[in-house]
Amino acid sequence: MIPSVLPTYNRAPLEFVKGEGSWLVERDGRRFLDLGSGIAVNALGHAHPDLVAALHEQAQKLWHVSNLYTIPQQQRLADLLVQHTFADTVFFTNSGTESCELAVKMARKYWYDQGDSNRVEIITFEGSFHGRSTAAIAAAGSEKMVKGFGPVLGGFTHLPWGDHDALRGAVTDRTAAILIEPVQGEGGIRSLPDQCLKGLRRICDETGALLILDEVQCGMGRTGRLFAHEWAGIAPDIMMVAKGIGGGFPLGAVLASERAASGMTAGTHGSTYGGNPLGCAVGSKVVEVVSAPGFLGQVNARAGALRQKLEALVASRPEVFEEVRGRGLILGLVCKAPNTDVVKAGYDNLVITVPAADNVVRLLPPLNITEDEISEALARLDAAAAQVETAASSC
Ligand SMILES: *Cc1c(COP(=O)(O)O)cnc(C)c1O
Repeated sequence: MIPSVLPTYNRAPLEFVKGEGSWLVERDGRRFLDLGSGIAVNALGHAHPDLVAALHEQAQKLWHVSNLYTIPQQQRLADLLVQHTFADTVFFTNSGTESCELAVKMARKYWYDQGDSNRVEIITFEGSFHGRSTAAIAAAGSEKMVKGFGPVLGGFTHLPWGDHDALRGAVTDRTAAILIEPVQGEGGIRSLPDQCLKGLRRICDETGALLILDEVQCGMGRTGRLFAHEWAGIAPDIMMVAKGIGGGFPLGAVLASERAASGMTAGTHGSTYGGNPLGCAVGSKVVEVVSAPGFLGQVNARAGALRQKLEALVASRPEVFEEVRGRGLILGLVCKAPNTDVVKAGYDNLVITVPAADNVVRLLPPLNITEDEISEALARLDAAAAQVETAASSC
């Protein structure tokens, strides 16, 4: 008999009842150190007092009002994002998938309005993940995601990761946009070198194609800059955001330049819940905290400490781990042992990590994880690795 919850997930037998900062409390009272943050969502940890207060305060005033009216909380968050990023304008969604939908629509509408209605192709990359809608799975294009869900939405060209020559040849006068994650999350924490992102920007400038960055997972301070592309000193035309921006409240956004957004006039797009007062009250607080002076400096310092300790862990457990990769606090441990064994051993040792493609164990701790918690995390990861080693040698 089918379970009452549609069984699309292989769930671990863990039931968390409370979160406090970097900690999750299981029903049975065990305290887990959370290096997953709900997959980069709880950017400021669990139950951050400022976020709780922002949600509370708004909940007592007004939960929902239609986008037929002015929503001041939405206006404020849009202003903050415009102030702190390349963007001239912002549309709010409830998820990364919805942000992907709009990014694709926006790019195509731009060229349509330029009188170039053949210019609809979007170039994407192998190993990418952009969400689960029909457009988002077509964008990623992997067999695993599209199989059985055909006909697959057309207009996406998939290129190998990191092949500059293939890319150069693939951009034609039908290319509307190039869509890429500066750091692939689900794909196994593969970061695009800064010079490649610069190269992508150059190709887009030369051909007119729009550059769409998916910073749903790697954005909102996770790499140590507010958005990952800032490291390369370039700006996209369109950027997808979600996950961390709501700090745990469902919230997403599409940020765009005035040029890229020029086709999106009244009536061309919409959302019932997108930009609702609750989500935007929380989102504004997240952006305020992450962009406050000193916060990202602290993220970089913590990331440096974590990285150094992880390198030592990998060196001391060569049967389990191969290398550390990623940037800031979006890190991957490339495993020799099966990554799911490492994640499970982590559960036994009260530390939460997340598997990713390429046999990687992902670490996405809260951005405000403390130094003591980092030391504790390493002790638990080492215990988990020891357990995997022992299990391997006994069979
Ligand atoms: C999670 C994710 C998405 C999809 O976001 P949802 O909120 O799950 O719809 C899109 N792109 C990237 C890079 C992601 O990590």
